[in-house]
Amino acid sequence: MTHVSMNSLSYQQCINSRCNASYASDEVLFKCTQCGNLLDAAYHWDQIPIPKSMNFFEARWNTPGRSPAASLDFSGVWRFRELLPFVPEQDMVTVGEGRTLLQQADRLAAELGMKAGHLFLQYEGFNPSGSFKDNGMSAAFSMARKLGRSRVACASTGNTSASMALYAAAASTADRPVQAIVFVGSGKIAFGKLSQALNFGALTLQIDGDFDDCMKRVQEAADTLNLYVMNSVNPYRLEGQKTIMYRVLEGLNWEIPDWIIVPGGNLGNSSAFGKAWMELRQLGLVRKVPRLAILNAAGADTLYDLVNNKKLRWNNGCVDEQIVQDTYTAMDHQGYKAHTIASAIEIGRPVNLHKALRALDVMNGVVREVDDDMIRDHMAMVGRFGFGCEPASAASVAGLHLLREEQIIGPDERVVCILTGHQLKDPNATVEYHNPAPHTPHRRYTNSPIKVPNDLNAICRLIESNTPSPGSNA
Ligand SMILES: *Cc1c(COP(=O)(O)O)cnc(C)c1O
Ligand SMILES: [Zn+2]
Repeated sequence: MTHVSMNSLSYQQCINSRCNASYASDEVLFKCTQCGNLLDAAYHWDQIPIPKSMNFFEARWNTPGRSPAASLDFSGVWRFRELLPFVPEQDMVTVGEGRTLLQQADRLAAELGMKAGHLFLQYEGFNPSGSFKDNGMSAAFSMARKLGRSRVACASTGNTSASMALYAAAASTADRPVQAIVFVGSGKIAFGKLSQALNFGALTLQIDGDFDDCMKRVQEAADTLNLYVMNSVNPYRLEGQKTIMYRVLEGLNWEIPDWIIVPGGNLGNSSAFGKAWMELRQLGLVRKVPRLAILNAAGADTLYDLVNNKKLRWNNGCVDEQIVQDTYTAMDHQGYKAHTIASAIEIGRPVNLHKALRALDVMNGVVREVDDDMIRDHMAMVGRFGFGCEPASAASVAGLHLLREEQIIGPDERVVCILTGHQLKDPNATVEYHNPAPHTPHRRYTNSPIKVPNDLNAICRLIESNTPSPGSNA
């Protein structure tokens, strides 16, 4: 493939169709200066050498380890670099993100009344910091490198800060340290995630407030101190997260699934997925687009409310802002605070709302909500029948369960649930599930430790009486 200078091939574009303002790709903006809406990374595709079929990318698995392109081809993000061409190769930052697995989950499928070979888990816990956020960080840090920015900041429920702190540590040199500045709400962060931000050396600010407060403050502080914001309002974050869809396709031998199911917090991931499919279709690389299901936690269900109760739609890029404003005003009046065990999606004002509405439009999507008990049970179910995951990730599997019950998803449709984060991110949630407090209602997959005397006979009797019989899916 010919090497093309990538500088002038990309730009930024306002997503509001009544505005359509465009900006240079290296202008640091997180909002359209004309209308305040979100910006997309956009490309002059006709000037970019796009492969004729997706198989092209698969061949890069075979790049020998010592060739110059090897570390980019090793990355599950940059292996697809022709589809996110906003920086030249020398600026692409990688720590080996996106080496993830699409796992065929037949036992989980049986548990949910689906046929074998039809349910897949895209396990993003394999990423270097243990969540899908690394896909986005490698892309956003590449832009930061191109721009020469060395102070990066984010608001976080945990995983964004863990990922950003890791990339900042990896990108630092003695001459040029990259400083990571993290805003977390007090008491709102799982210890697995907090431990990462601290250990990677991030300046960690515990704000007396929740995620939504942190999100507001980080943008203000960034304006005041000229920090580079690494939240998913940064359009380049989402470019990296598009590759999750490319890898799902790759895992399915380039066949298109019927459904993608993903938890929704700040709605960056769902937005990135919508953009990925929109572009693949535009480039003629796919003919069909899967449907999308976004899962809110019941205690953080702004998108669910806006879409299902208030009928908010993308409407060709003319979103009815009055509905959004009225909803947020009412939330303020009620003193609404998001609350769920799935801390990664404990967000009341999702910054990517408009892009997520577009994704729902492009992918003929639905939005559902699941309560904390469902999230807990399905987290344990995933652990029992597949890779473990953290609570927020299990919302996707709980959502599949719900959509099966509603008969919106049939037993022989092909479904991919995105497992967004690693089980060890929030071990407290898992241990609590398996050691419920007295009087907790029955939990289906509880597996409590059993006390036994320090005596061989007693130990052997206990093991014998707890041997599963073949054929039981338990
Ligand atoms: C960030 C995160 C989410 C939410 O993703 P959004 O892009 O903010 O909607 C879900 N699960 C996990 C594990 C996360 O870290
Ligand atoms: Zn605009």
